Amino acid sequence: MFKIEVYKNYIDGKWVSSNSKKTFSSLNPTNENAIGRFQLSNKRDIDLAVKSAEDSYWEWSSMPAPERAEILFEVVRLLKKDKQRLGKLETIEMGKVLKEGLGDVQEAIDIFEYMAGEGRRLFGHTTPSELKNKVAYTVRMPVGVFGLITPWNFPIAIPAWKLAPALICGNTVVFKPSSDTPLCAIELMKILEKSGLPKGVVNLITGSAKDTGEAIVKHPRIRGISFTGSKFTGEWIVKNAGLKKVGLELGGKNAIIVMDDADIEMALDGIIWGGFGTTGQRCTAASRVIAHEDIKNELNDKLISMTEKLKLGDGLKESTDIGPLVNKKAVEKTDYYVGVGKKEKAKLMCGGEQLKGKGFFYKPTIFTDVNEKMRIAKEEIFGPVVSVLSVKDIDEAIKVCNNIEYGLSSAIYTNDINKAFKAIEKIEAGLTYVNSSTIGSEVHLPFGGVKHTGHGRETGIEGLHEFSETKTVYIDYSGKLQKAQGID
Ligand code: ADP
Repeated sequence: MFKIEVYKNYIDGKWVSSNSKKTFSSLNPTNENAIGRFQLSNKRDIDLAVKSAEDSYWEWSSMPAPERAEILFEVVRLLKKDKQRLGKLETIEMGKVLKEGLGDVQEAIDIFEYMAGEGRRLFGHTTPSELKNKVAYTVRMPVGVFGLITPWNFPIAIPAWKLAPALICGNTVVFKPSSDTPLCAIELMKILEKSGLPKGVVNLITGSAKDTGEAIVKHPRIRGISFTGSKFTGEWIVKNAGLKKVGLELGGKNAIIVMDDADIEMALDGIIWGGFGTTGQRCTAASRVIAHEDIKNELNDKLISMTEKLKLGDGLKESTDIGPLVNKKAVEKTDYYVGVGKKEKAKLMCGGEQLKGKGFFYKPTIFTDVNEKMRIAKEEIFGPVVSVLSVKDIDEAIKVCNNIEYGLSSAIYTNDINKAFKAIEKIEAGLTYVNSSTIGSEVHLPFGGVKHTGHGRETGIEGLHEFSETKTVYIDYSGKLQKAQGID
């Protein structure tokens, strides 16, 4: 379907080669074929991109937000028109099944539409002054040049989650996508280009974490960083970004609690979708199940039988339930953790091996008899591995749920409203679902986590805070110097 084309960076409204004169490949994880070559950019390219973003900042930030919104609405129109093609491209470049690829594009459509609507709001607040003849209110200001660093698991939606609010707030952007999904990013960039976005407002640079990602994080003239990726990289960014405004979304070890009064069949559907959707490669993946001991055996038996029926294969085929992992490293990491689980004496009930032949396929895997001290119950695997733990009551369930360093998503299946509300109150996570899986967030609500999952929230109204600063305005029309705090 794709001939091996050499794709370029997009700087100052032009498609240009890197100064490095080097390129790298992006592979289709289903068959390991290269789908294109991309610029292996370096610091010099980043400098040019930052300059371009700086040069366009005055004009872009001066444009009224409702006018910027018109461009975002055009992006919505173009994304809708291209949804099928882009969804398919996601399957080809990172492996998720087509219906999920289409969902990812839909999420990009939704966030551009939502943030375009913000063009006519971007609310601050007004409040009385403590003095007569004085007005006080707040407005939103853009931050400046923003560096956006994105992962491969939602190769269009996550860039869109960052681009749409960054742009509506009036920032200009240097965008570095993951080297596993540069083509999805380039196709999104082409849509921004077509939408009438002025040159220089968004600049796309492909390349390695070391030569491009790090240069963005350390760049003295970039004022904000929005990053989604691993905890390890997030920690590095915090140490190296200096005093930039930083937003981080770093993953999770999310649990589904299933109480003894739950609808087990519904919980099972949620576990399969949360644990194995996107082949377990979501930061909100349900990688732990915390089952009440009275229903544990029934749940385990049914879960194993459902998991064994899942069809692994090419995500473009309608019969496929689960696509490949993104790359060889992901297969090795998953296999490493399966080894850890076995050593820790958890019971491997199904899966636990990669498929032979081409492609990065790993069988959906269930461990039971897991306890909260085991590494497979604590560390993020980012593959199709679900660990089942058991507990005696709701309090223990919540304590086990919280006994991890992350705090992104969580879910509880119960028909007891008291248990549901206790979970909502006590679970330490940015998201709690009741009688629904750990995944499926909607763009008009905030998304993000607590503890080592990171800082800040994306999407929803709070998503605007990451990409804007609040300015407090005082206007004194008393005609004399008035002092606050009652000073004469
Ligand atoms: P993942 O395992 O999901 O790829 P990473 O954190 O390694 O998670 O990568 C997410 C994004 O961050 C990618 O675009 C990657 O190139 C980039 N990245 C990785 N390390 C760094 C770094 N030290 N500085 C800046 N960006 C980085």
